[in-house]
Amino acid sequence: MSELYDVVVIGAGPAGYPAAIRAGQNKLKVACVDEWKNFDGTYAFGGTCLNAGCIPSKALLESSELYQRAKDEFSLHGIKIGDLKLDLATMQKRRASIVKTMTGGITALFKANGVVGYQGHGCLLPGNKVLVTGADGAEKTLAAKHVVLASGSVPVRLRNVPHDGKYIVDSWNALEFDAVPARLGVIGAGVIGLELGSVWRRLGSEVTVLEAMEQFLPIADGAIAKEAQRHFKKQGLDIKLGAKVSSATVLAEAVDVVYADAQGEHKLQVDKLVVAVGRRPFTEGLLAEGTGVRLDERGFIQVDEHCSTGVPNVWAVGDVVRGPMLAHKGKEEGVMVADLISGHFAEVNYKVIPSVIYTAPEIAWVGQTEEQVKASGRPYKVGTFPFSASGRARAMEATQGLAKIVSAKDDDEVLGIHVIGPMAGELIAEAVLAMEYSASTEDIQRTIHAHPTLSEAIHEAALAVDKKAIDGINR
Ligand code: FAD
Ligand code: AMP
Repeated sequence: MSELYDVVVIGAGPAGYPAAIRAGQNKLKVACVDEWKNFDGTYAFGGTCLNAGCIPSKALLESSELYQRAKDEFSLHGIKIGDLKLDLATMQKRRASIVKTMTGGITALFKANGVVGYQGHGCLLPGNKVLVTGADGAEKTLAAKHVVLASGSVPVRLRNVPHDGKYIVDSWNALEFDAVPARLGVIGAGVIGLELGSVWRRLGSEVTVLEAMEQFLPIADGAIAKEAQRHFKKQGLDIKLGAKVSSATVLAEAVDVVYADAQGEHKLQVDKLVVAVGRRPFTEGLLAEGTGVRLDERGFIQVDEHCSTGVPNVWAVGDVVRGPMLAHKGKEEGVMVADLISGHFAEVNYKVIPSVIYTAPEIAWVGQTEEQVKASGRPYKVGTFPFSASGRARAMEATQGLAKIVSAKDDDEVLGIHVIGPMAGELIAEAVLAMEYSASTEDIQRTIHAHPTLSEAIHEAALAVDKKAIDGINR
């Protein structure tokens, strides 16, 4: 007899573990199966996000930014330090210990919410059964009223750039370097490439980013992308646009990279090469023959707006389904599905998902870019406010960037909020809340923002939409 659960979740990343926890909170009998193994061979819950993505990257971004600020900015505050030294081993130990604490936290949360955690491989069998294979090869079948697939994603690899984990690496390897590479190549100027490039640049690497597209950061608002490109250039990130990598070869402890741009073919030699060209949905070994779960042409599990696969009581959430590959998007989908299973009302507002790039300055946005609004044909108005006019940003020695709001001309609805500047990732929460409640620009204008705070930049940008900015020049 197989053990019977109300819900079995496959995958304990930021989409799967919240689904399991919410199902537990809803008093359902839940199991969550995860096969993630770290480089040392130990199992850990938390998926890509906690083990090899969001959390370790933010730990290193924070440490490396502090190092760079100590080097270049402290003296402006009148703080003199003598011989500044980088202790990468300690920095990496800190990163690893944050990851360990956070992933251990999931085990504790599972316990607190009555979720049975299994560490091993999960495979959906027809008839809503899940075959679990443990580390020792032992098999166990779990029967489930509902199954939630949350198997996530893995890095895309390039055929002519053979991954070896030492010289030609992915983002996970690049978070665990034990020495600062003198010359670092990054393929792809997307979010991950820019964040990793920033970390190692600040710690001393000469960084070249090769990006196939001609346009820099096309997912962001044009004005924000332009501002970002200017700052990254100043920081010494050599971002080559329209540069398509065709091959890379490891030779004598270095990597020879061949790329082509409008001028022709070029060669670049680096000590490490990070391939950051995107991620793909991961479904290997997930679905046994005959489950009826369908994949689309790009390998994503097909689902409707409620994350139902169409197979009765089989759901899929997170990176393995359509939509932005973001931890918070997966989390909301996981929670939605667990609530729907329990008979509650639940939905995800896909129009209001924030994006954050944790570089310095930080970049964050929600809603439509000016270019998207323009293309939609809806008449619009724009307000901007530079952080150089913010008292708090001045006090912080962080005056780079701006806040920008795009609103509808007809009914004043806020259509998009874009920030590049200090703590943009935190500031965007206000914008998300405003848009979740379909705020008008006037709603933000009439909301009192504490002084002096960075959030005043959002307030002033809203005022600027109607040429009423007090602390900025209305254009
Ligand atoms: P995953 O986190 O990939 O988890 C899936 C889990 O399922 C894994 O543990 C996997 O081992 C397990 N699994 C797969 N198949 C099976 C199976 N058959 N049986 C058992 N277990 C299985 N997003 C953000 O929102 N903010 C950020 O700052 C951010 N930074 C990032 C930085 C980096 C370097 C990277 C790589 C990603 C980053 N992301 C960030 C993206 C984020 O990590 C993903 O969107 C998120 O992890 C997706 O969650 P998920 O639960 O769908 O999948
Ligand atoms: P993202 O999907 O946001 O992580 O970004 C990945 C980036 O890598 C995209 O901007 C792609 O254009 C870029 N890219 C993909 N393949 C190549 C390649 N062969 N050479 C250079 N850039 C690439």
